[in-house]
Amino acid sequence: MNNAVKKVVVLGGGTSGWMSAAFLKKMFTDQVDVELVESDAIGTIGVGEATIPPIRLFNNVLGINEAEFIKETKATIKLAIKFENWKNVGESYYHTFGSAGKSNPFCHFHHYYYRAKQLGLDKSLWDYDLNYLAAQSGKFAQIKAQDPVLDVPFAYHFDAGLYAKFLRKFSENLGVKRTEGMVDSVEQNRESGFIKKLILKSGQVIEGDLFIDCSGFKGLLIQETLATGFEDWSHWLQSDSAVAVPSERLEKTLPYTRSIAHAGGWQWRIPLQHRNGNGIVFSQRHYTPDQATDILMSNLDTKPLADPMLIRFTTGRRRKQWNKNVIAVGLSSGFLEPLESTSIHLIQSAVVRLAHLFPHQGINESDIAEYNKQSDIEYQQIRDFIILHYVVNERTDSRYWQDMREMDIPDSLRHKIELFKASGRIFREQNDLFLESSWLQVMAGQGLEPQDYNALANQLTEQQLMDMLNRIETIKKEPVSQLPSHDEFLQSIMNRA
Ligand code: FAD
Repeated sequence: MNNAVKKVVVLGGGTSGWMSAAFLKKMFTDQVDVELVESDAIGTIGVGEATIPPIRLFNNVLGINEAEFIKETKATIKLAIKFENWKNVGESYYHTFGSAGKSNPFCHFHHYYYRAKQLGLDKSLWDYDLNYLAAQSGKFAQIKAQDPVLDVPFAYHFDAGLYAKFLRKFSENLGVKRTEGMVDSVEQNRESGFIKKLILKSGQVIEGDLFIDCSGFKGLLIQETLATGFEDWSHWLQSDSAVAVPSERLEKTLPYTRSIAHAGGWQWRIPLQHRNGNGIVFSQRHYTPDQATDILMSNLDTKPLADPMLIRFTTGRRRKQWNKNVIAVGLSSGFLEPLESTSIHLIQSAVVRLAHLFPHQGINESDIAEYNKQSDIEYQQIRDFIILHYVVNERTDSRYWQDMREMDIPDSLRHKIELFKASGRIFREQNDLFLESSWLQVMAGQGLEPQDYNALANQLTEQQLMDMLNRIETIKKEPVSQLPSHDEFLQSIMNRA
């Protein structure tokens, strides 16, 4: 057991630095001093625009006004990701934040659906998903219905640089101290190896009890100082590069992210209020940076607003997220590639986990072990979900997609796929971030068809089954015509902010 934690130092002022500082100060108020150090000379990664629904909870806990947030960060609504050409060229599916139909506690909706399909039903799963129906018609509003079946879960696309700026103002108002300067060296306790101080180029010394390393990919404290090690997952998640470029906004703002697969990588298109975010993710074994840049630039919807920027990365995670008195948050903790927009979420869950295990009386090994165990499970579950998109594909047009199909996947994922293929069964394990509905949409969207369904779906007569499906389809479709367009919704928010 070490000394009580009275002062937290956050190194880095990107999305992870400011999210960490804001959350810790909001939660622990006068119990801890929070100081954030960032260097304008180094800057931030400058990408990271799509999020998933729990971000709304994070903002709510901070007490952020949604209209103000949407205005300041130029945010738009995200209802889904549309995966284009992932299964086959010319085919697409949506991974929505909603779910198909209505499940009961014992039997998920899709078992009824797959039974009906065996009886000749000619509908897609997504015909029963309100998020899909709204996304596809470019509409959105928060529906205030009593019936949770009409919930439309959503997240945001936003300008991550503006979000960090917004949180900086918010944090400074709460009392977070910001220090500008570049860390030049780090002083550790000789016996324990714990970090004592950061020494800036200016000579200024920043002392602390607990250090949050938000210094980006290099991990200045967790890796360059503590040599924690990195578990490389690039044999599974083979992308190692991205080229990003902003372009002019689209006239009509889509309420979803587009993920478009190419012969040797995939491209994102993220609609913001003031511009589109674009990028291509690829592995240099399959595309050279020039090839990838050419493909990206010839597949923009609108005029580019800057030069394309190349970013290199290695997929995987830090061997320990918490080592001694350093906790890695954000890119310093690992990176799983941006396919399912999970990086900002991992920042959120890291700081929430830290709040649960905050070592106010001193750091002890059992807290560290628990923190690391929880983050290991979270990383592995997200890793498996991302690999699923790649490994289940039917594309025959390139070596890349064949390599993806033939890769040796983790046993945990193999088991999930086999279970679904045999019986349509999907189980959510240990707080998996992705619910059954997410796994279902990607498995079905990528072309997996279960051979069987849960026998509980046989409890209805054929007539009752078809009546139920028709009823649910009507219930889900009905609200869509009443919804405003996504742009009208955003305008109404602007008028309120
Ligand atoms: P950075 O933004 O790199 O910030 C590092 C900070 O550390 C900077 O403030 C810098 O000044 C400071 N620093 C570093 N060294 C020093 C030093 N010596 N002294 C002082 N300060 C220092 N995430 C999503 O959730 N959704 C997405 O759609 C998404 N898309 C992505 C696309 C790509 C191609 C990539 C690579 C990432 C994407 N991410 C996405 C991830 C997202 O960008 C990051 O998770 C997020 O921006 C957090 O970055 P960070 O704050 O950890 O690091």
